[in-house]
Amino acid sequence: MDIKKIRADFPILQRKVNGYPLVYFDNAATSQTPRQVIDCIVDYYSNYNANIHRGVHTLSQEATDKYEQARQKIQSHFNAKRSHEIIFTSGTTHGINMVANGFSTLLKLGDELIVSALEHHSNIVPWQMLCERTGAKLKVIPMDEEGMLLMDAYEKLLSEKTKLVFCNHISNALGVVNPIEEIIEKAHKVGAAVLIDGAQACPHIKPDVQQLDVDFYVASAHKMCGPTGMGMLYGKEEWLKKLPPYQGGGEMIAEVTFEKTTYAELPHKFEAGTPNICGGIAFGAAIDYMNSVGFENILAYENELLAYGTDKLSQILGLKIYGNSSKKAAVISFNIEGIHPYDIGTIVDKLGIAVRTGHHCAQPIMDFFKIPGTVRASFAFYNTKEEIDALVDAVKKAKMMLS
Ligand code: PMP
Repeated sequence: MDIKKIRADFPILQRKVNGYPLVYFDNAATSQTPRQVIDCIVDYYSNYNANIHRGVHTLSQEATDKYEQARQKIQSHFNAKRSHEIIFTSGTTHGINMVANGFSTLLKLGDELIVSALEHHSNIVPWQMLCERTGAKLKVIPMDEEGMLLMDAYEKLLSEKTKLVFCNHISNALGVVNPIEEIIEKAHKVGAAVLIDGAQACPHIKPDVQQLDVDFYVASAHKMCGPTGMGMLYGKEEWLKKLPPYQGGGEMIAEVTFEKTTYAELPHKFEAGTPNICGGIAFGAAIDYMNSVGFENILAYENELLAYGTDKLSQILGLKIYGNSSKKAAVISFNIEGIHPYDIGTIVDKLGIAVRTGHHCAQPIMDFFKIPGTVRASFAFYNTKEEIDALVDAVKKAKMMLS
């Protein structure tokens, strides 16, 4: 990988923060945007901004074609069997809520749902709301001190009462890669459906939804070099047909009378109203960009950064890394004994380094470790070892100032 050339694609990496060159290590929250995607957004608003699926005029046709081409790019990227199994959403949260809402018509009192202990709030709260509406029960797969899910305990939770299992592919708070193949296979044995939250996996790997045999897979464009407010829900056709629409409105109907409305075919049944047209097209451009870098290259390079960063940070006395398992994405979540993560984050920001501090929308994980939060440095393929050196120096400085 030509890292210099790649970095030149990201205009924001040229800027300074507090007089220092920006070191952006908050990629797990949102990735940065390459020129190719920014150009795509400018091109849309400069040349063919129009509403889609309804106009006979040229601009509307062009916008519709590009939007549907983006859906096909996403289909091909995730290896979905059919393009109408890809639903455009505003992000991972939206996709999960769509499925949770749909299941409210399919669950009854006494049914059970299983969640992992490693989830982001957006893969917990919608299901708790669903349980409140239906009387279903939520059960939790526990984890160990390394952030690994206890698969024996998972097996014991599964029964014919289990209707749905949901789990993230990679944890945002710790970076741990979950054994989703096994989770899916075991859930299917008891007839339960599985939703995988791929928000943190898709920036690093290329999931194959057919090979995984997953029922639902969700992701956000803004973590994959794309725009905010855009994402996708993959659902197997049979499930998407079974679930009721999430919202009513224009675009999602076949016919409307005051007596009765019939719904449009997939994917439009789940896409009420004018969508984020530019966002969808730019999501396609982001996927093209990431594929041009190549996911094998991305993963190999990020693993190098992870090993380097883990080694360097571990040498700081009193620094503890959480979820330090062997199967991890390029995320280092840590604390220094006796120092609040927020204070470390504030001092390193003064030196131009962006890290995330806090509970990372995963309070149950912080409760498990009995900590208020962590400092999280999350790497992307445009980061460098020199930037990690800058982080290590800054953390040492922060430690000195705060001890
Ligand atoms: N799940 C995980 C694992 C995440 O990391 C995030 C984003 N931090 C989300 C869900 C929610 O994504 P979004 O805010 O894009 O809907």
